[in-house]
Amino acid sequence: MKYKLETIPVWDAMHEDTECLFCSLMEKAERRYIDFYLGSSVMNPETRVKVNSVGFCPTHYSALSEEPKPQGLALISHTHLLETQRALGPLQDSLKHIKKGKRAKKIIEQIREVLRSRESGCLICENMEMTLLRYAYTYVFLWGSEPEFRDAVEKSKGICLHHYPVVLDMASQALEGGQQEEFLRTIASSMDRWLSKMAEDVHWQTQMYKSENRDKDWRGTQDAHKRAIHHETGSVRFIKKES
Ligand SMILES: [Zn+2]
Ligand SMILES: [Zn+2]
Repeated sequence: MKYKLETIPVWDAMHEDTECLFCSLMEKAERRYIDFYLGSSVMNPETRVKVNSVGFCPTHYSALSEEPKPQGLALISHTHLLETQRALGPLQDSLKHIKKGKRAKKIIEQIREVLRSRESGCLICENMEMTLLRYAYTYVFLWGSEPEFRDAVEKSKGICLHHYPVVLDMASQALEGGQQEEFLRTIASSMDRWLSKMAEDVHWQTQMYKSENRDKDWRGTQDAHKRAIHHETGSVRFIKKES
């Protein structure tokens, strides 16, 4: 599958010199989608239908509610709640009229299933997943087609482990022939280098808390623990759509 190229944002993120280019891009994408769903799109019938049926995950509901735009979210919540009432209606009726000796277990299971499916999706997560695939495709494509980008990758601080597999997966889609293997070898070596550097930095940071090292140079490792955690977990996540 070919993805649309996103050359400009990927190059821009590369120039930012961040801990992970994809984390930086995904933070921006998340911001854009939050603004989108709280903006005028909320009145668009097509978006309304999607919002009512899919909704948002807890992380993104809370991100939406932190924005100073209560009106948009009130509209979303109202119609989403009506849809939930509709889905639960018959089961609620059965439960309200349940007679002694009837088995409630099946109805409770069905209620759980309705609520589970109401909670299973998130429009922002879905958009972010597609966006990440386009960015990863572009990253690998540029590596294969622009020597300057390849140089920039070499000099960059790398990518986090959370985003590593999606980039590896793209080698077979964005590159042809021997370039795939060359990319995989290069990225694997770079990842090893980045990981060793992180481990080294965070180790030096631990040594600097010992009194005998009081006068030594921190070598810029005061925040190495934060960078190490970022490299392991990434800064922005989305829930994957169940397949
Ligand atoms: Zn990342
Ligand atoms: Zn979400």
